[in-house]
Amino acid sequence: MACTGVSRHAPVDLPLASPGLAGPSRGLNAETTTNGPFAVMPGASEIIFLGTGTSEGVPRVSCLTREPVTCRVCRSATFPGSRNRRRNTSLLIRYAHPDGRIRNVVIDVGKFFWHSALDWLVRYRVPTLDAVVLTHSHADAIGGLDDLRDWTNYSRAPLPVYVRQQDLDILARTHFYIVDTDRAAAGGVARLDFNVIDATPFEVEGLRLTPLPVPHGENTTAFGYRFGDVVYISDASGIPDATAELMVGADLMVMDALRPRRPHGSHLILEQALDQLRRFRPRRALLTDMTHDYDHESANAELSRLRETDGLDVQLAYDGLRIPVTL
Ligand SMILES: [Zn+2]
Ligand SMILES: [Zn+2]
Repeated sequence: MACTGVSRHAPVDLPLASPGLAGPSRGLNAETTTNGPFAVMPGASEIIFLGTGTSEGVPRVSCLTREPVTCRVCRSATFPGSRNRRRNTSLLIRYAHPDGRIRNVVIDVGKFFWHSALDWLVRYRVPTLDAVVLTHSHADAIGGLDDLRDWTNYSRAPLPVYVRQQDLDILARTHFYIVDTDRAAAGGVARLDFNVIDATPFEVEGLRLTPLPVPHGENTTAFGYRFGDVVYISDASGIPDATAELMVGADLMVMDALRPRRPHGSHLILEQALDQLRRFRPRRALLTDMTHDYDHESANAELSRLRETDGLDVQLAYDGLRIPVTL
């Protein structure tokens, strides 16, 4: 498949960040988006976004300590239920296993995992975690590994973590006491069972995941994942052709789109993400890994126009968004 290159389409002119948001977003209703309502059937598979923000999260503390506070997105993100509140990217896959028991598989546990879990695992009553799958070993993907102790303290078996060897090598330095629990000084640490993965598809509790290798800056790579007809790419600066072949035919694509307009060395920005979506034309697309440069409501209103002009159904995801999927 050939690269799309520079888009011939007109840029999307988003009314971003500063103007246009005077107060909190509308009340949280995690089962609807501006894409329309999604009914989640009890016992069916679904995905829940535990985080949709970049490493520093939204709101940015520095935007709120400034006098006066001029960043309306960050200010609005402090209101309860604001869809501008974005924690580190993370996705919960709730897989309806044929044996009738839902399996809970989390992709990435970043610095804000505890906050995400407190919000969404509580709200959606997710009592157990069955596995963690990592995309790479940046802090916003692994910073919450410590907090997994809450899920392993009272379980007999350690929690499986699926990780590339190169990331496990990094974890052995950053989280040496978790990788080698004999080196833990005292007290309980998360009991994790590390499973090394490569680009070969693998199964987690019966759910097949296909790694999607992508560059993430000049000297770093990460994995996206495909499961069923869902593609999830949270950290990418491009999509090589060999990876693109694994993405063809996906129904729902979740795509890294750090911010509009200003290019970035290790992430796709909005215009590049839209070019990728034009390349694949999924039935529905959601953007993630976002900075405070997007105001949720106004950006989504603008993106809605792409349905008419480009035949693209693309919206910003938000923390807590829950979507039924067929797996
Ligand atoms: Zn801000
Ligand atoms: Zn990263």
